[in-house]
Amino acid sequence: MKRIVVLGAGFAGLIAAIGAARKLAELKIAQSEASVTVLNRDRWHAIRVRNYETDLSEVRVPLGDVLAPIGVDLAVGEMTGLDCERREIAYTAEGRPFSLSYDRLVFALGSELARPPIPGLAEYGFDIDTYDAAEKLAAHLTALPRRPDEPGRFTALVVGGGLTGVEAATELASRLPEIAAGGPARVIVADRAARIGSNMGDGACAVIAEALAALGVETRTGVTIAAIDRQGVVLSSGERIAAATVVWCGGMRAHPLAAAVPGEHDGFGRIAVDRFLKVPGDHGVFAAGDCAAALVDGEHASVMSCQHARPMGRIAGHNVVCDLIGETPIPIDIGYYVTILDLGAWGAVYTEGWDRKVAVTGAAAKETKRLINQQRIYPPRSRDPAEILAAAAPVTQAPPPQIHERR
Ligand SMILES: Cc1cc2nc3c(=O)[nH]c(=O)nc-3n(C[C@H](O)[C@H](O)[C@H](O)COP(=O)(O)OP(=O)(O)OC[C@H]3O[C@@H](n4cnc5c(N)ncnc54)[C@H](O)[C@@H]3O)c2cc1C
Repeated sequence: MKRIVVLGAGFAGLIAAIGAARKLAELKIAQSEASVTVLNRDRWHAIRVRNYETDLSEVRVPLGDVLAPIGVDLAVGEMTGLDCERREIAYTAEGRPFSLSYDRLVFALGSELARPPIPGLAEYGFDIDTYDAAEKLAAHLTALPRRPDEPGRFTALVVGGGLTGVEAATELASRLPEIAAGGPARVIVADRAARIGSNMGDGACAVIAEALAALGVETRTGVTIAAIDRQGVVLSSGERIAAATVVWCGGMRAHPLAAAVPGEHDGFGRIAVDRFLKVPGDHGVFAAGDCAAALVDGEHASVMSCQHARPMGRIAGHNVVCDLIGETPIPIDIGYYVTILDLGAWGAVYTEGWDRKVAVTGAAAKETKRLINQQRIYPPRSRDPAEILAAAAPVTQAPPPQIHERR
């Protein structure tokens, strides 16, 4: 009996596990001959990209609804170690240590928010990296009206003007005034770069600037954070901002356990994989999603995004079975790159191509963003095995629609 283990049930891991089960079913290989097991820290598939949204009620899908109907086993626990020579995984569940052995592995533990040692960040900073963190921020925001009426009670400072920070700030621009119920509310976004959203390219940057201005979001650029305390922050410029809410959006790094996989790692700690998502060498390890770096079209390196994590997962799931049975694997080949950034009540911006040309803005782009966040990136929730398996066929989805007309 052969065992395929998938580490992580996020965008890459869940679809990799389904993809492996799909390929085994296609080959009519019985579960008694080859099994698929997913190890995840909890029982949820987190739609992590939605953590900036106000309503978190639909941002998690029970893994059992997707995995049980297709016969994939779920182990719930916190992975703590990996020995690629012995092909063994160490994890803990309910405080007890366990181990899991494998014949083939898909490493898909994703990424984590980078947390530099800024004084006060760990104690007073919030973030939206995980569902738990987003819930903690939501509870804090809801409780603000019950706090003493001090300066900065309804001020939120978002640190990091990348994609996550801009989405957080533009959403807070509507959410905080509602919580303040007529009181003075301020949202500020700060970044060390000269412009907010600078990695989105010049065209999108101008759109972001327009949206921030229209929403009344203040900006601080060319600054870093010197320290955070209960009352607010001190910027590197010396400015003190009273803010009860500081949301840290300082960029992502590959999961630290990616370092346990032999071979090359890039500057983000991502595991270098070939076009088949395989880690070079003879360890039987594949990697996909934020913890892996692959050339997605033979030229461009994958970007930490669910846009790349999902097709990488599909291909890794398919290929891990090919590797097990000696069939020719399929290379990843994603022929397009788009970005759709939510800009709160102002709308969104949809860019096309690796040079990020602005294609659609405002309410029309927001329609596409809603379609992505609420439908396109969800696994089937029908519990229908055929529908679930079909969702992991090793093909790339067409780009999201560009909706130009306002309806
Ligand atoms: C607020 C926010 C907005 C974003 N917006 C966008 C966007 O608009 N577009 C886009 O393309 N991308 C966006 N991203 C990035 C996107 O969420 C990631 O690129 C994507 O989640 C990567 O998928 P993954 O499967 O590699 O990792 P994840 O989805 O993070 O999955 C990792 C899985 O591993 C599990 N895990 C981690 N550590 C352990 C452990 N030690 N033991 C057991 N299980 C573990 C986790 O529970 C999780 O299930 C956004 C991210 C955030 C935080």
